Amino acid sequence: MIRCGYCGHEFAEEEGIRSCGKCGKPGGCRMVRCPKCFYENPPEAKAPKTLRKVIDLLKK
Ligand SMILES: [Zn+2]
Repeated sequence: MIRCGYCGHEFAEEEGIRSCGKCGKPGGCRMVRCPKCFYENPPEAKAPKTLRKVIDLLKK
């Protein structure tokens, strides 16, 4: 679940409005907008550090 940093509404990542594709952030926008107030929240951080390291290795 993501808790909106603006209004405090909790929503599933799938419920939010994803990747605007317009803001020109490198690698594509990964922010998730709150369905209530449209505030941009950072995506849910699920992966622990060790798992992230493995993902980084796989990407290379
Ligand atoms: Zn909100």
